[in-house]
Amino acid sequence: MRFCPSCGKVLIPKNNKIECICGYDEEISDEDISKEYKFEGERKKEIEVIITDNNDLALPTKEITCYKCGGTKGYWWTVQTRSADEAPTYFIRCAKCGNTWRRSN
Ligand SMILES: [Zn+2]
Ligand SMILES: [Zn+2]
Repeated sequence: MRFCPSCGKVLIPKNNKIECICGYDEEISDEDISKEYKFEGERKKEIEVIITDNNDLALPTKEITCYKCGGTKGYWWTVQTRSADEAPTYFIRCAKCGNTWRRSN
């Protein structure tokens, strides 16, 4: 996961480029995308996640309980997996330690 160096928002890759709503942009290779945008729990299963077109994402916050650090503030977002017939997957990131996991719902 990459964050914008100028405003701190999550950067979403699109056509090998990442663009932030603040105007920052950067080229990104496929390799980097798969390295940085695969989530911990997904690596084993080799499921590739495709981030949705939702570009202006100021991630909503949510009350959570982080299983790593016990933090109570988190962000959430959804991604569509490669098979379009599956429901989007819901991810949660701990605001304190950055731990990211997938919510099963
Ligand atoms: Zn930015
Ligand atoms: Zn945490």
